[in-house]
Amino acid sequence: MYVPAQPWSPDSWRERFNAAPLPYDDPDAVQVAVEKLRALPPLVTSWEVERLKGYLAEAQLGRRFVLQGGDCAETLDDCRPNIVTNKLKILLQMSLVLVHGARRPVVRLGRFAGQYAKPRSSPVETRDGVSLPSYFGDLINRAPFDATARRPDPNLMIAGYQHAAITLNFIRSLSEGGFADLHHPEYWDLSFLERADLPGELRERYQRMTEQVGEALRFMEALAEVPVGELSRVEFFTSHEGLNLHYESAQTRKVARRPGFYDLTTHLPWIGERTRQPDGAHVEFFSGVENPLGIKLGPKTLRDDVIRLLDRLNPADEPGKIVLIVRMGAGRVRDGLPPLIEAVRSAGRKVLWMSDPMHGNTLTTSSGIKTRNFEDILTEIEANFEVHESMGSNLGGVHFELTGDDVTECVGAGLTESDLDQRYASLCDPRLNYRQSLEMAFRIAHRMAE
Ligand code: PEP
Ligand code: MN
Repeated sequence: MYVPAQPWSPDSWRERFNAAPLPYDDPDAVQVAVEKLRALPPLVTSWEVERLKGYLAEAQLGRRFVLQGGDCAETLDDCRPNIVTNKLKILLQMSLVLVHGARRPVVRLGRFAGQYAKPRSSPVETRDGVSLPSYFGDLINRAPFDATARRPDPNLMIAGYQHAAITLNFIRSLSEGGFADLHHPEYWDLSFLERADLPGELRERYQRMTEQVGEALRFMEALAEVPVGELSRVEFFTSHEGLNLHYESAQTRKVARRPGFYDLTTHLPWIGERTRQPDGAHVEFFSGVENPLGIKLGPKTLRDDVIRLLDRLNPADEPGKIVLIVRMGAGRVRDGLPPLIEAVRSAGRKVLWMSDPMHGNTLTTSSGIKTRNFEDILTEIEANFEVHESMGSNLGGVHFELTGDDVTECVGAGLTESDLDQRYASLCDPRLNYRQSLEMAFRIAHRMAE
């Protein structure tokens, strides 16, 4: 039984061990930024957070499927109309393909409007004998390798908040009907279907799926007594890694007529693999908020780790509260996942199992470029489906690092190693591009429809 040393407060995390401390060097300036943030309105609302929790509760019962996706490290510069629209577009299109395969509604959860903070394996980066703080994401410092850019700047928390607000404002406006055409496969870029290395049988199958998605949409529109505008309203939720607890806690508050505290920077914060120590600062902070929480679980996760985390973060076993995001690596899922499923089952706990097939499958090419292979990513997801099926459990969602743009960061599905330096734009981990993401959705939908 966990016994707290002191009662929870939005600041009680400060007394705890922080496994990924941020390299701020001016505590007074951090405090000034935090006070400014505290006074600003929330980015999301508690009723949106509760609605998402309700959907996740249904997903835990197998009645919905969750698609989470976006950049590894979103940047302030990415706050541009095309980049945001393209990201929503690919998530929306993937979700329609997945609805078709899963035969369940799909909850869309972006890694966006605040995915600005990154944990790093080393606090310092050395190039040609020069050592500077690592890049911790645009919420903390800037990417260029010079002393000014890399110095942590607390004002970036304000800039991050503002860019998240602008991004969210645009997302909310587009969601209210600006996507009418994007529902229709006629407007999708399906050029991957023409690729010579795509087996003919898959090509035909995907063409049929596309036609069926189009027909279903036309049918719904014809049937609906509501204006087409109403049908084109789409719901998106946001998520980001809750790494910078100064930022998260400054926007954490009680709201009228609800008992608990809400972290109102995002709908679903997640705790990364590096910061999920049950006694650590991040678990302490997130144990006190009402938001649904993601927890990343890597290949070394033990059964007891999971149960202790559930005890700390969801002692009352509230439905829809916990999303376990498993990221083991394609070859490790079959050994690593069953004991975790078994532990959660014997403890009688409610969780949503999600697969993050990206973070366990990162490779470095011989020329030193960080990449991931489309087939490894798919293999990890397939292994998740198999393990859950064989244990009578349910894979409730998938989590991708992706972008709606035509980048060249992951290999496979049309890209080879020699293509990588053409348009490699990620400041952190490699993302699937538009075509790779859409193809991934078709492959998963195909698997789910079997
Ligand atoms: C991420 O999602 O970008 C990430 C860093 O995940 P993990 O904590 O699992 O490595
Ligand atoms: Mn990442």
